[in-house]
Amino acid sequence: MVQYIDVTSRSRSELVDITGMVEELVRKSGVSSGVCHLFSLHTTGAITINEGADPSVQRDIAAFLKRLVPVDAGFTHAEGNSDAHVKTTLAGPSQTLIIEAGRLLLGTWQAVFFCEFDGPRSRKVAVKIVEDR
Ligand code: ZN
Repeated sequence: MVQYIDVTSRSRSELVDITGMVEELVRKSGVSSGVCHLFSLHTTGAITINEGADPSVQRDIAAFLKRLVPVDAGFTHAEGNSDAHVKTTLAGPSQTLIIEAGRLLLGTWQAVFFCEFDGPRSRKVAVKIVEDR
């Protein structure tokens, strides 16, 4: 069974912490040991795992990607958002997390983020929780 997380971004480029929403689905699944696959259903939004404690890290990552891939870098895509497509490919559309003792196995400072690169928009992340056999 696939489940979905709805994400609402508020600016063109930002990292949205979705850790709590993913943990809630893991808790409701009742799975004690397994994996949790996350997949962004978008071409201008990605999934990453990084520091969640200090929000300045999220802002630094979004700001650095903006400098790395400028909007006006001579792209040909008529929609005008090729920078967002390139950033999405750099960050990647998916992550797989380990479920242990009924919880996501994350380091102390780690959090799960939806990376918005062409917001603000409503987004969907597909979640597939698979139990050990
Ligand atoms: Zn486009």
